[in-house]
Amino acid sequence: MSDFSRRITHSKFDFFLSVDCEGPIFDKNLENNVLNMERFLKLNTENDIYTLLFITPYFAMKLDELNLIEKIKNEYLVVFGLHIHPNNLPEHIQEKCSFLRDDLHLLADYNYHEQKEIINNCYEYLHKLSINPIEGFRGGYFSIDNNTVDILKKNTDIYFESHNIHRKEYKVINANHLISSYPVYSKDAYNEFRLEYFESEKLISIINDALLNNSKVIGITHSYLFDDKDFHYKRDGIGQSIYSRLNDILRYIKFKNSK
Ligand SMILES: [Zn+2]
Repeated sequence: MSDFSRRITHSKFDFFLSVDCEGPIFDKNLENNVLNMERFLKLNTENDIYTLLFITPYFAMKLDELNLIEKIKNEYLVVFGLHIHPNNLPEHIQEKCSFLRDDLHLLADYNYHEQKEIINNCYEYLHKLSINPIEGFRGGYFSIDNNTVDILKKNTDIYFESHNIHRKEYKVINANHLISSYPVYSKDAYNEFRLEYFESEKLISIINDALLNNSKVIGITHSYLFDDKDFHYKRDGIGQSIYSRLNDILRYIKFKNSK
């Protein structure tokens, strides 16, 4: 059992941070964001926190271009996952999936056979760039259904999915999951532990509840916030940077653990 598997399944409080590593669909300054990624990984790793990186093929391509894949594997506490926006795939994958449509944004908009083609091609591409092992899966906009889970189980080594299970795009029904579900910490569709949604104070109060209940917290954020000068901060009215919020959270966890 890996250190991550042990920590995610034990019965005590623990904190993990997941990142949807997007690509040009959201990262308008993809290179800047990728170049700021290590700052984020370093902060988590120094505090003994795993970062779960859900990576799209476009983001993988940029990591490869900037020669960062081996470095990330060797220097930081990370778990790799696959992230897919079917309307934002590199040309070489699009060519193999001639059924793709620009107006379909969710993976679960596609049938079993089509999803299988999309997933297999993306999974193979990340492997080809030595992004491995790939342990988790998160659909773009949290889209996943029973077909997705079945395909992941039969065709990949992915053993968990991570979504906000309260969103309507989460369509996995039946509790007998073929793969494990390690959801984003959330009370409902939008009350989720998302660094860009809340200021430190609110995030810390959520951590405090989780500590009291011995729950795990899997937080979420996005690659387009790695660069704290990215236009998303201004556009979305995000006052404090994700680093500042994360620092406050980590300091609080450290303080609680020391007592
Ligand atoms: Zn996404």
